[in-house]
Amino acid sequence: MKILNKCPICGGKLEYNTLCQYTNVYYVKKNGDLTKQRKRKEDNGPMDCSFFSCINSDFLTDCELNVTVPKDSKIIISQINGRYYIL
Ligand SMILES: [Zn+2]
Repeated sequence: MKILNKCPICGGKLEYNTLCQYTNVYYVKKNGDLTKQRKRKEDNGPMDCSFFSCINSDFLTDCELNVTVPKDSKIIISQINGRYYIL
């Protein structure tokens, strides 16, 4: 089990996107924590969804943390005590 602290594909920076009425985007730190300071705020209308994305666009999850990019990925993401791990 590996802590999810960078893109599992390219090793680039990961973003954790929380969609509610606004999107708060946080960076994922080396220890797997999310940065407290949000990077940007975007208005997305009423939604309730969180997902990871790589800043290089080669890794993306849906709101159930299923990996959607790359396709047919064997990567499984699990949340344990507020941190995210790759199984
Ligand atoms: Zn990447």
